[in-house]
Amino acid sequence: MVKELEKGDQKLYLCEACGFGYKDIQIAQKCEDYCNEHNSCSMEFTKHAVLK
Ligand SMILES: [Zn+2]
Repeated sequence: MVKELEKGDQKLYLCEACGFGYKDIQIAQKCEDYCNEHNSCSMEFTKHAVLK
């Protein structure tokens, strides 16, 4: 499950598999799906990460 994180006045969504944070829950969810399936991250998603 993607984790919600309050950062000041904005919300971030964390991929629980790799710990990267995204502003967009859709990307966070896709990242997590990918991470769980492949046991590694895809640059496609991590390039959008705002928190590592
Ligand atoms: Zn991930």
